[in-house]
Amino acid sequence: MSQPIPMILHCPICRMQHIDRPDANWTNPPHKIHLCRRDQGGCGHIWAPANIATMGVEQLWPSAEPINEFDLAQLRHAYQQLYDGTVKQQRDFADGLIAPIIRKLELLL
Ligand SMILES: [Zn+2]
Ligand SMILES: [Zn+2]
Repeated sequence: MSQPIPMILHCPICRMQHIDRPDANWTNPPHKIHLCRRDQGGCGHIWAPANIATMGVEQLWPSAEPINEFDLAQLRHAYQQLYDGTVKQQRDFADGLIAPIIRKLELLL
């Protein structure tokens, strides 16, 4: 199965957030069908959010996955594009949301 797509997943029955990571009972191979685990306080429901492998993550951005120079370069590019735009809201968005993430990443890398 191909590389799973990271997603924010909640059990459709009990709404508990489903996070896929290996632990004592589970090696976390790529999977389409997710189990709301009773050993983690869930309800036991089984569901497939998509017909491809997906991975429940805590948050999508900033990612829990290791970040790298490529991510940072892309973010700087996005910032510059927004900032160079003529729309004030875009500049505010770039300064208010993207610039702080860039600064945080620069400290982490
Ligand atoms: Zn799962
Ligand atoms: Zn559930």
